[in-house]
Amino acid sequence: MARFSKLFLVVMFSLSTCSYYKSTNTTFTSLGYSDADIAYLRSIYQNDLNLIIEHQINRNDLFTYLKIDKLTIEEIIKSEEIRKKENISHLAALNLLHHPYIMKEFYKYPQPALNKDSYLILVNKNYYLDENYIPSDLVFAEGAYQLIDDESRYYLRKAAYEAYLELQQDARKQGLYLYLSNGYRSYQKQTKLYNDYLLNGNEPDHYSARPGFSEHQTGLALDITCAANNFLLTEDFANTLEGKFVHENAHKYGFIIRYPKDKEHLTGYMYEPWHLRYVGIEHAKIIYEQNITLEEYLINYTYIKKQ
Ligand SMILES: [Zn+2]
Repeated sequence: MARFSKLFLVVMFSLSTCSYYKSTNTTFTSLGYSDADIAYLRSIYQNDLNLIIEHQINRNDLFTYLKIDKLTIEEIIKSEEIRKKENISHLAALNLLHHPYIMKEFYKYPQPALNKDSYLILVNKNYYLDENYIPSDLVFAEGAYQLIDDESRYYLRKAAYEAYLELQQDARKQGLYLYLSNGYRSYQKQTKLYNDYLLNGNEPDHYSARPGFSEHQTGLALDITCAANNFLLTEDFANTLEGKFVHENAHKYGFIIRYPKDKEHLTGYMYEPWHLRYVGIEHAKIIYEQNITLEEYLINYTYIKKQ
């Protein structure tokens, strides 16, 4: 009886192994994989290969991900779940897998700023700069029409300053005067600003970014205004000739309106037609034409590496 059981098990095992490989090959084929694909994937994923079958990952989908980056099967499976659920691209799904809180749950899951070494640096209510971060190429915005006599407010990164000068000059040619109200703001100054709101009994998060979470610390953000808006930073700026000029033309100089209308749920900020952000012409053009936020642009148009 014991011998019979042993034999029975051996037979069963052989049968199951056989049918297992048969169905594996069949399914790989039905998912679009060639033998060469399987050999290649086996060399990368070894024993994890069966997960492709288990989760029904099509060849085209899998290789679309692999073109983006070297990924684990687990990352691909999870991205596929997100992509199907949200009906978005492979790139967007992968970005959301690695950066799920980029556009939501503000201040709940703080992370170091993304893209720190590029003009696409992301600082928002989840991505922060530490207190030692000072851009290395800050310049004094000497040629900008400055609103008040406080030199500390008028530093910008060089590229942002040069682009702004061109914007200001072209506006001037149409009889429009843009005034710079704020440029770079240090971590220390942001701390003071935030604490002042706190001390005055106001809800500080309503008025000010928390220290480290202000885009002004990047040196790529500017607040601008004009006489017709009494030099204030208010939504009415959008209705002035200057505001309209900026809205229609800023992207040609590499700027975006960083906190557009009706995008508060994504940016964490109400409409701020006065707050410009330098990203470079190539990116600004797409953001303007697609009418999207920086957060949406990064997710849908760029690959943001895991950090
Ligand atoms: Zn601002």
